Amino acid sequence: MKRDEEIFNLIEKEHQRQLKGMELIASENFVSDEVMQAMGSCMTNKYAEGYPGHRYYGGCEIVDQSEELARTRLKQLFDAEWVNVQPHSGAQANAAVFLTVLNPGDKFMGLNLDQGGHLSHGSAVNTSGIIYHPIAYNLDPKTGRVNYDEMEEIALREKPKMIIGGGSAYSREWDYERMRAIADKVGAIFMVDMAHPAGLIAAGLLKNPLKYAHIVTSTTHKTLRGPRGGVILMNKDFENPWGKKTKKGITKMMSQLLDSAVFPGIQGGPLEHVIAAKAVAFGEALQPEFKEYAKQVKKNAAVLADELMKRGYKIVSDGTDNHSMLVDLRTKFPELDGKVAETALVSADITVNKNMVPYDTRSAFKTSGIRLGTPAMTTRGAKEDLMIKVAELIDEVLTNVTDEKIITKVRVEVNNIMKNYPIFAF
Ligand SMILES: *Cc1c(COP(=O)(O)O)cnc(C)c1O
Repeated sequence: MKRDEEIFNLIEKEHQRQLKGMELIASENFVSDEVMQAMGSCMTNKYAEGYPGHRYYGGCEIVDQSEELARTRLKQLFDAEWVNVQPHSGAQANAAVFLTVLNPGDKFMGLNLDQGGHLSHGSAVNTSGIIYHPIAYNLDPKTGRVNYDEMEEIALREKPKMIIGGGSAYSREWDYERMRAIADKVGAIFMVDMAHPAGLIAAGLLKNPLKYAHIVTSTTHKTLRGPRGGVILMNKDFENPWGKKTKKGITKMMSQLLDSAVFPGIQGGPLEHVIAAKAVAFGEALQPEFKEYAKQVKKNAAVLADELMKRGYKIVSDGTDNHSMLVDLRTKFPELDGKVAETALVSADITVNKNMVPYDTRSAFKTSGIRLGTPAMTTRGAKEDLMIKVAELIDEVLTNVTDEKIITKVRVEVNNIMKNYPIFAF
């Protein structure tokens, strides 16, 4: 059969785009060659509905071992008693928790989507907002940090069945202990979605939410640097508090309910090639080198935030504790919106995404901010010196968004610099 040149040419073009640019999207990363190999392996051919040892198909002896390895490594990474590695994505992991904990129409609380929350935490166009009843908590407009006092007031008033910590554009450490206390006060399940900082948590650089939360979800492809996918974890299994009883009158354990929610609740066959790649990534994250990587991610983010602030940019909450930051463009350039900023930076091969800032005065299509993160650049070997240069280049582009000559000059410089920062070998 003839090779599919149409697609493979596009894959090569994407490869070149990734090689020559500066990748600053906070949710992206570059996986290792071994993660890539596992994902592109024959395990994609296998149907394995069910769980290791309990499958609905024959021939699962080997994928059982691979899924078991993924589970064991993930448990070790976060000190978990129970995990599920089958969710196809972070949003799927969350949907499975919602299906387990909530009934249609039940109230839950999550960080306001305009202030860093994720669409799977209650957006009106996502199942979380369509099927269930979301209630938002907010950031303090002065500090740019979660307002836990207000969260407690809202929880006492609304009596949600679940409270969610974690977000997509929040650069500060979370007070999980306080959130657990609030959840306990109103009898709610406390769930943490650590999709963004999971890699830094695995490396011990941020607090481990498993110590405080009933249930934790994550993606595997952000700071954790694995294949695209999701996982669900618990530090300790517990009886379903809502008292759903089996026919024999036994209350089911949360682990059983969560397993059933993933399959057959919201998914069919698991992606065993991706699960094998997850196992490789978890194995990598257990190595001492990963800790060094995570430390550098954090250092690079701190330097990038500092350098931008030195140049007059407002960073929401005036800094970062993790790998990401939100730039409020209004302070330095009141007329410049996030959409124009994103387009200009992408023209210079500096990839970022526009993002609403807390209490934004512009719409989600325009926004007043851009979100930046350092996981991908750090994988390529970037250190503090390159972060200083990145801040300088971003500033040069944003000061000259309509000057094509300057943008072209920056792009050439970006491409030249990135020649010295290799990625995958293929
Ligand atoms: C990225 C993200 C997700 C969703 O992950 P997908 O794999 O894109 O579905 C969920 N929650 C949070 C907080 C995220 O940042």
